[in-house]
Amino acid sequence: CADTAMYHAKDSGRGNRQFYQPGMDASAKDVLQQERLLREAIAEGAFVLHYQPQIRLADGSLQGFEALVRWRHPERGLVGPNEFITFSESRGLITPIGRWVMHEACRQLKAWQDEGLAMVPVAVNLSALEFRQRDVAGELAAVLHATGLQPQFLEVELTESVLMHQTGQVLETLQAIKTLGVGVAIDDFGTGYSSLAYLKRYPIDKLKIDRSFVTDTPQSTDDVAIVTAIIQMGRSLQLQTIAEGVETPAQMDLLRQLGCDLIQGHAISPPMDAEAAHAWLQSHAAATRGQ
Ligand code: C2E
Ligand code: MG
Ligand code: MG
Ligand code: MG
Repeated sequence: CADTAMYHAKDSGRGNRQFYQPGMDASAKDVLQQERLLREAIAEGAFVLHYQPQIRLADGSLQGFEALVRWRHPERGLVGPNEFITFSESRGLITPIGRWVMHEACRQLKAWQDEGLAMVPVAVNLSALEFRQRDVAGELAAVLHATGLQPQFLEVELTESVLMHQTGQVLETLQAIKTLGVGVAIDDFGTGYSSLAYLKRYPIDKLKIDRSFVTDTPQSTDDVAIVTAIIQMGRSLQLQTIAEGVETPAQMDLLRQLGCDLIQGHAISPPMDAEAAHAWLQSHAAATRGQ
């Protein structure tokens, strides 16, 4: 695989990252090229955040934004996170990207708040590796201080894989995040580890029902059953529920009937760049005033 080839290339190159041999296959060269481009992107700050609104079903009010990173690739245009986050992790390059995301999301939300827009939290995604490797609570505190954003306007999205490790360190970090006043959401809920014990062990605020359970509703009775169960469990455990990837009015109707608190998805808006999100905020504010 390309990754193994890359390690060999690095070993034989004795740390020279540009090194490759004529016999090396194209995919290994691609990996080197990709890593070089990614390093340049980090140095130049060639990333952007897109923002996707989260809406309360009961009244249509804005309740938050999720920040989603994109890479402004010199040849390929805007590249989505699924194409470079895992790669960044394997090259040891995720930390500077993750730090930039956190800072930029807080800076942007604070700027909107200073204009009287978006008095709602922004959510940032943290991969399991980032959660393990970085001093997440310390960094959150520092970025809140640096940007002047109040902690109740920041949320982190973690996947279940973070929580399946029953280490004291996970609990300690989550408690530290909670003490700061920053929210915790479980992303892609239902797709990860099957034990639900962590829901009572850890201080969690929100369950994000994975898009894969939402997509085929209301037609799929199995998926309706799963979504129903998650919403009921969330309510019993006093966790907010938010459905991801909501695309149709029929899905919105179903989720409203089931008592899901929030939704996020193309039915409301796709993720938008900062400029489009700003315009969206202004028209949303105007529409809300008009109610
Ligand atoms: P996620 O956190 O579950 O984010 C939701 C993904 O679903 C986003 O894809 C979003 O664009 C997409 N989406 C939202 N609404 C709809 C919809 O109605 N229909 C469909 N088909 N898709 C919808 P995106 O932006 O490509 O992000 C993919 C994943 O990359 C994210 O999944 C998240 O796990 C990860 N990611 C994004 N930004 C970051 C980041 O800054 N750091 C880390 N570590 N991971 C990130
Ligand atoms: Mg997310
Ligand atoms: Mg998700
Ligand atoms: Mg997802």
